[in-house]
Amino acid sequence: MFGLCQNGSLPIKINTIKKEIVLTANIIDGKKIAADIRKEIAEEVALLNKKVGVSPALAVVLVGEDPASAVYVRNKKRACEEIGIRSVSHDLSAENSEADLLKLIDSLNNDKEINGILVQLPLPKHISEAKVLEAIRPEKDVDCFHPVNVGLLSLNKAYLKPCTPAGVIELLDRSGIKIEGKDAVIIGRSNIVGKPAIQLLLQRNATVTVCHSKTKDIGEKCKKADIIVAAVGIAEFLKGNMVKEGAVIIDVGINRNAEGKLVGDVAFDEVSKVASYITPVPGGVGPMTIAMLMKNTLTAFKVQRGIKD
Ligand code: NAP
Repeated sequence: MFGLCQNGSLPIKINTIKKEIVLTANIIDGKKIAADIRKEIAEEVALLNKKVGVSPALAVVLVGEDPASAVYVRNKKRACEEIGIRSVSHDLSAENSEADLLKLIDSLNNDKEINGILVQLPLPKHISEAKVLEAIRPEKDVDCFHPVNVGLLSLNKAYLKPCTPAGVIELLDRSGIKIEGKDAVIIGRSNIVGKPAIQLLLQRNATVTVCHSKTKDIGEKCKKADIIVAAVGIAEFLKGNMVKEGAVIIDVGINRNAEGKLVGDVAFDEVSKVASYITPVPGGVGPMTIAMLMKNTLTAFKVQRGIKD
């Protein structure tokens, strides 16, 4: 602010207003990016159908009556329908034995009309998840949980990629965020998210640090990161003071907070004031997982039929 001096001389600065800079991150719209990917897959499926007269098919196996699993399965089947992928449901009651499920997997493995097999987890306690997942033929393992596919991923030879971390990479790419040369911190080392995310980020030439429940000074490590992938499973674990200004934040978490609200692993309100890009929950990584499952089903179909890109 400026005012005239009593002697009529030139105005001088008489007050300085302290300006508080509030950075607001760009929101990465996972819902839109996932819809774009599903549209691209649908177009390719339609083209392939014209060319070879068949569409990819995904067998969706649900064992038991877990309500959350039923919702996940319904969403996956809906995505298949929308894209033109044939979904074939196998709903088994929780009373079925491990042997029953293994028999079903065997018949799906040998069914030439089935390109991908998805077994919804968790399975009832009397069935070994590891045994069932390892029974799926690697080339039909669209979740990418089979040890052969995990190995191929670490050798940088995988054509089927684990859906959630592959979705993370797509979000970064399609938001124009450079990965190469960046310092990336992953919080969480699960087989489904954290560990495969290490491989995928490493393949893109990021320098990767992984944090877990025994890591010291997580805040310090996060504070140095250009990209943070939070897959810890604790509501609003990553706080604003753990994040470097301008960092990119990908929130994989899906949690209910004390009020029962769906929240991620990132304290969105405070972190979004520091970050340059951030994914919301819901509407960030979540929709990408199904989109990448559809992509894997299409890839499996093409590989099995010897169709080149
Ligand atoms: P998980 O198997 O429970 O793994 C959690 C990881 O976080 C573990 O590696 C654990 O370390 C680490 N951790 C736990 N407490 C910690 C702490 N206090 N400090 C640092 N690290 C800690 O979980 P997940 O399957 O990877 O899932 C993570 C989150 O992502 C969950 O909220 C889940 O619902 C969500 N998710 C979302 C999608 C999606 O499609 N959006 C898909 C999968 C998962 P240790 O290894 O030392 O125990």
